[in-house]
Amino acid sequence: MSLLLPAPDGFARLENLIDGKRCPALSLERLASVDPSIGETWAEIPSSGSDDIAAAVDAAKRAFSGAWSDLPALGRAGLLRNLAGLFADHASELARIESRDNGRALAETSAGDLPAVTQILHYFAGAADKLMGDTVQVSPASFNFTVVEAVGVVGIIIPWNAPLSILAAKVGAALAAGCTVVVKPAEQASCSILAAAELFEHAGFPPGVVNIVSGLGSTAGDSLVRHPDVRKISFTGSTATARRITAASADSLTQLAFELGGKSANIVFADADLDAAELGVSTASVFTGGAGQTCVAGSRILIERPIYEEMVERIARRASEVRIGDPMDLETQMGPIAFDRQYDKVRDYIALGSQEGAEIAFGGRSGEALMGAGSPHAGGYFVEPTFFRDARNDMRICREEIFGPVASAIPFDTEEEAVALANDSSYGLACGVWTSDLKRAHRAIAAVKTGVVWVNAYRRIHWALPFGGVKESGYGRDSGLESLRGYLHTKTAWIEL
Ligand code: ADP
Repeated sequence: MSLLLPAPDGFARLENLIDGKRCPALSLERLASVDPSIGETWAEIPSSGSDDIAAAVDAAKRAFSGAWSDLPALGRAGLLRNLAGLFADHASELARIESRDNGRALAETSAGDLPAVTQILHYFAGAADKLMGDTVQVSPASFNFTVVEAVGVVGIIIPWNAPLSILAAKVGAALAAGCTVVVKPAEQASCSILAAAELFEHAGFPPGVVNIVSGLGSTAGDSLVRHPDVRKISFTGSTATARRITAASADSLTQLAFELGGKSANIVFADADLDAAELGVSTASVFTGGAGQTCVAGSRILIERPIYEEMVERIARRASEVRIGDPMDLETQMGPIAFDRQYDKVRDYIALGSQEGAEIAFGGRSGEALMGAGSPHAGGYFVEPTFFRDARNDMRICREEIFGPVASAIPFDTEEEAVALANDSSYGLACGVWTSDLKRAHRAIAAVKTGVVWVNAYRRIHWALPFGGVKESGYGRDSGLESLRGYLHTKTAWIEL
């Protein structure tokens, strides 16, 4: 079974999944999905509106009170395991669709994301029969206990940078908890999720349990947030969009969970293993296969002064060695930016960094100037890994999320100063600490105000570990057993004896 069949004109055409049926938008309108490595349309997706969202929410609501709610926990687990197996069977095709659609290097989607999707679904399958309430001793005259219940229909809004793995973490937890879902993938990269719709059907989920509806954020996404029958929105995306969602949910009072942007610091102390740090703060952190379009990108590199010049040189060399090119080539380490508007934004920030007085230690080129006029990728949205030295934390390039392969080095003199700089941000998603001093590592873990801290590692994300931020990086957690709680509410029972 192939998940994607190109039409005779060469474009792949994908459909929504609503109430167990594949369908176009009711308006029949479509959006172009662009291959960012060449800047040309390669597929078309439904441009859904409020009527499509209403149909999907209605199907999810009926499914929630239908056969789905009668399934024992092990039944939900079995379906999730079927799904995990189907994702494993189709991993290589789905990795290729995703890389083509959002430009993320196939080396990352095929070796990282798709294997993780299968594991995530197995993890949540295993969790489905471990949902528990408590008995609470209030008085001998009463028996008191709590039960946990699925919240109901959940709206899941996905960004473009890692669609399938974010889908698996959110949908896996929601289904394990017994919810039904309406998924709205990002308009710039919906194809892998729409292609995977097929797998939910084959896994045996009853119609309406999983619905997938593509469309613009301002229409389809907004309708989902405003729908009175959606009990929870789980969103990963930008802080600006989270603010709009918060305002739009004022009437429905829908419960919200947000995994948002970041401006994460990587703190390199002079006592660190510099070889490990050099790789960890560059290629593994911000000069990634997704061209730094990762919410945890370590875009502020804080370096202790005695090693500042050496580390700047090492990071600039690493940036210069990144193999940029066709994301479908397994040798490629970094693909393009996912779409034109984001490409322009990243290039504007690079220009801004120079205007603000930071010096480019490496990078700065993009597009044809980078790929060469005769290259098949000259029209793609490629940006060179760009590394600014001698930046200050009050510069906009150090305060605003760029979401591209751009990092800035800032020197520091003391541990207190490093922690203060790391915390001097409106964001609070992640922080990296590079040191060989165990006591310092513990002090830093306690002192940094972020949802995730890595010591002598970076961007290590695992389905068993809660993931999310504080401050303007959001609230609520994906992954881990904690994420299941977000799809459940607690009912308190009191029996008078
Ligand atoms: P941007 O492209 O502005 O950075 P995001 O990264 O936040 O937007 O987009 C993440 C997801 O949020 C996408 O699926 C997008 O369609 C959706 N989205 C955008 N705007 C809204 C909105 N007003 N309401 C609901 N969802 C939205």
